[in-house]
Amino acid sequence: MNTDLKPCPFCGSPASLTALNGTNHYAFPYIECGGCPARMTHDTYTMPGAKLPDLMEAVVANWNRRSETKPKEGPEPEEGNAQ
Ligand SMILES: [Zn+2]
Repeated sequence: MNTDLKPCPFCGSPASLTALNGTNHYAFPYIECGGCPARMTHDTYTMPGAKLPDLMEAVVANWNRRSETKPKEGPEPEEGNAQ
């Protein structure tokens, strides 16, 4: 499983993944930023029935997901020109 983490989207610091495997099928992997309070998790409450590797994969995918939105170039087309 690829657990390479992109830098924190808020402050750019490196992030780390911690995987906690509890009792009673409870798994709690989380990612936290080393430089700010940003933190993300999936656990067996948000993904019932999931196993630790599934949860880790999900949280890594979410952490690494970035907006596809590109900065706007130039002014917006004015309304009414699209006829
Ligand atoms: Zn951060």
